[in-house]
Amino acid sequence: MRNAAAMIQNASAMRLEGKTCLVTGAASGIGLATARAFAREGARVALVDIDAEGVKRAAGELGGAGLVADVADERAMAGAFAALDAELGGLDAVVAGAGIGLEGSLEEVGPELFDRAVAVNLRGSYLTARLAIPRLRARGGGSLVFVSSNAGLVARAHDPVYCATKAAVVMLARSLALGLAADRIRVNAICPGPVDTPALWRGVAPGGREEAETGLLASVPLGRALGRVATPEEVAAAAVFLVSDEASYVTGAALPVDGGKTAGLQVF
Ligand code: NAD
Repeated sequence: MRNAAAMIQNASAMRLEGKTCLVTGAASGIGLATARAFAREGARVALVDIDAEGVKRAAGELGGAGLVADVADERAMAGAFAALDAELGGLDAVVAGAGIGLEGSLEEVGPELFDRAVAVNLRGSYLTARLAIPRLRARGGGSLVFVSSNAGLVARAHDPVYCATKAAVVMLARSLALGLAADRIRVNAICPGPVDTPALWRGVAPGGREEAETGLLASVPLGRALGRVATPEEVAAAAVFLVSDEASYVTGAALPVDGGKTAGLQVF
């Protein structure tokens, strides 16, 4: 009985109270929804994005610290983390959410675009982790979350370069999870399916949600169990779980939040 009462009490408590969390790519989409969810759960939030106006607006909304940096730029990122040290004094969790999508076969994606995709999606994740790790270690442990993609779990013919960057992020998460366990730093990747964000509408489904759901999702041979795109909040909920103490035994996971897309094939 006492345990049940304690559980009910815990369920009503804010799940990230007392934690300081940094989110990159926090001006839009999944990153913004994640920063909002963290703030709702009682965390102090720090937001990093290349979009100066957007990050300022989001930081103002959430009463958090907002910094402008390109995640691929080592000096800018080191400067952002140093500024946050002065303002926040330490970090308990970092979500590497900044990323760019790109469509196209290998012949269509030229070297410049290839370099930019690797710079933002992989180098950006690497730099974010590299700056986060000593700070999480100084805190006695913490949580590092990468935003990969279902494209990091299954290959797709139409965007091999994007797939390669996102698969690399999954392996970064798994390797770091093994290497950092002794420091009590948990490392995981979230692998979303299609999510209702500006990136999706800019990229694969310029016709909007209906096109994505009736055309795109219906045409993939992969599982389409839930048959709809996700809201950014549904992905943010996974980030809240992974950062919270409820996930104390979860590390090295690549968590699909994809409505069943990578569960298997729809055909037989
Ligand atoms: P979004 O475009 O809505 O948001 C991305 C944010 O990252 C923007 O605020 C943008 O300004 C910022 N950003 C981009 N490049 C940056 C850089 N170099 N430095 C700092 N900030 C930068 O996109 P989203 O859909 O929310 O995507 C977030 C992450 O989720 C990405 O890594 C993306 O690959 C991944 N993802 C998205 C989907 C989807 O369907 N939307 C699916 C799977 C994975």
